[in-house]
Amino acid sequence: MKSLWKDADAKRLIAKYARDGINKDVALRVYTSRLLGNDARLVLHGGGNTSVKTTMKDVLGVKRDVLCVKGSGWDLGDIEPRGLPALRLEDLLELRRLGRLSDEDMVSYQRGCLLDATSPNPSVETLLHAFLPHKFVDHTHSTAVLAITDQANGLELSAEVFGDRAALVPYVMPGFALAKKAAEIAEANPDVEGLILLKHGIFSFGDTAREAYERMTSLVTLAEQRLGKGRRTVFAAAVLPKNTAGVAEVAPILRGLVASPRDDADPARMVLDFRNTKAIRNYVDGKDLSSYSQRGVVTPDHNIRIKNWPLVVPAPDAGDLAKFARAAGKAQQKFEDRCHKYFARHSGKRGAAKTELDAQPRVILVPGLGLFGVGKSVAEAAVAADLAENTVAVISDAEAIGRFQPLSEANLFDMEYWSLEQAKLGKGAEKPLARRVALITGGGGGIGQGTAEAMAAQGAAVVVLDRDADAAHAVAAGIGAGALGIGCDVTDAQAVRRAFDQACKTFGGIDIVVSNAGAAWQGKIGEVSDKVLRQSFELNFFAHQSVAQNAVRVMKAQGTGGALLFNTSKQAVNPGPDFGPYGLPKAATLFLVRQYALEYGADGITANAVNADRINTGIFAGGMLEDRAAARGLTVEQYLGDGNLLKREVKVADVAQAFIDLALSRKTTAAVLTVDGGNIAAALR
Ligand code: ZN
Repeated sequence: MKSLWKDADAKRLIAKYARDGINKDVALRVYTSRLLGNDARLVLHGGGNTSVKTTMKDVLGVKRDVLCVKGSGWDLGDIEPRGLPALRLEDLLELRRLGRLSDEDMVSYQRGCLLDATSPNPSVETLLHAFLPHKFVDHTHSTAVLAITDQANGLELSAEVFGDRAALVPYVMPGFALAKKAAEIAEANPDVEGLILLKHGIFSFGDTAREAYERMTSLVTLAEQRLGKGRRTVFAAAVLPKNTAGVAEVAPILRGLVASPRDDADPARMVLDFRNTKAIRNYVDGKDLSSYSQRGVVTPDHNIRIKNWPLVVPAPDAGDLAKFARAAGKAQQKFEDRCHKYFARHSGKRGAAKTELDAQPRVILVPGLGLFGVGKSVAEAAVAADLAENTVAVISDAEAIGRFQPLSEANLFDMEYWSLEQAKLGKGAEKPLARRVALITGGGGGIGQGTAEAMAAQGAAVVVLDRDADAAHAVAAGIGAGALGIGCDVTDAQAVRRAFDQACKTFGGIDIVVSNAGAAWQGKIGEVSDKVLRQSFELNFFAHQSVAQNAVRVMKAQGTGGALLFNTSKQAVNPGPDFGPYGLPKAATLFLVRQYALEYGADGITANAVNADRINTGIFAGGMLEDRAAARGLTVEQYLGDGNLLKREVKVADVAQAFIDLALSRKTTAAVLTVDGGNIAAALR
């Protein structure tokens, strides 16, 4: 791998940070940390850390020797100086006198060494950085280095590859003991450029930022060169069905299987993130997948995010998805059993009692298709998929030159059930709609937009459909990660099917559907043209039916129930003059709600409606609202609040909240919730 160091970039960053009073050492530390952090072959999702030893003034104005080291929660790829908290170096070095130190005491002591008490927690590898004598220290989990060290003969192979340029450190779990061991080995080998931590990663160091960084790229290059020699072809291909089912059909089945417990009214669902690069397909299509994929993670801290093993399911034959669902269900059951047994084997053997983690996989491998990252949120699913792709790269290389052999199960257990990780369990309550995927039609503005935004704020991943593709994309972009905008005319049944497929490909499935798109056509019923009436039926009835049909198809494949929600109107029960063309299809849609409630209740799918009235959302086009208000001598605002029993203006947020309440009411179906401030003529009996 090449060095990306550029003098001009380094100088620019030094000048930029100098204006904020940041010293040159820290500026350069930021510069090369970003170079490392932006290369997925070196660092993924907080998997690496860096440090620099420099001087800073404390609050008394006294100059102190400090270690600036990566803080937790920061990513090297976009780190800033405040992501490198400063610790009093002298105090850190005092710790070397101790024989042992618990992780909890280490974390607490490190916080006590901070120059600024509001800093994030320094990395758990802080002491390793402190105990090494070098000014700049870089640490990564390079895929090439892991492919060399994760071998049965990893020690011999590493010695051959790195020679006297790097010293080898046997595996010790990160923390105080590893810091001491690494420092001893570095001191016994004063001329080395770095340390190879077997089955874990690599450290490089130097007097300057550039020297430490370029020693990293140079040592990694040695590993890459070795991986290029004497390769055998991996992997022999398995026999796959002639027609593999598509991602949109397979994803909801898998998503249902990993929800736990599946038969609960409100199971712990997961969000999926699908990937299928050439390298992934080569890996998942291999005939020995059930061997090489099940030996363990490539570097121990990965199992905190993706567990020790992925779930492997059979290849899905497009002609027999029911058979695939049964076989995948068995595989998931086996996966759960394995997790429970693994916990029973290792828990309580060392240290305090542990809390068992959930038995839901974080990676699913599907021959003939690709891999799914699995997470409690869109972001978590993406992290899992990234780590899975990284795993594919390491194991493919390791198998090409030998046999992939990671750490022992006991060592992996210690990391997955690390006390510092256990302490985080049960903290940070989830939002009410977390883990759910909601699809909203007519989401480009008005009630639909308000509902999409409100559901996203409550933790749902949202899919925004609108006839105006730009509006759908704008709303999704406004929500940010975890939202997908799709241009879709809901009166086109094929377009609706495509939109649902895209939602399933992106998030794995759908739990809540808000069928909201609608428009108010007018005309006196005895005179209105057939065309207007039929147009209104297309949007205000048939579109609801085609959306609902797709919703129950996906929800049934998941087998975890779901919430069907419809935006009906007071016109559905309370006709108004000239509103026949609007009220008639809405009345049919109200009946549709009840029909779905009746026929899909046994599948755990609720069907409910919100009856909103007089909300200024732009649905009444052409100044209609203004005209009506003016006829009564009122402003639009007065008109909207004047006509209801509570004399309160009903807002988009009120309607959005009603949809959320109904989505969360898992024992309410065939209900109509009025959000109109009170209209006795439209009150349902
Ligand atoms: Zn590490």
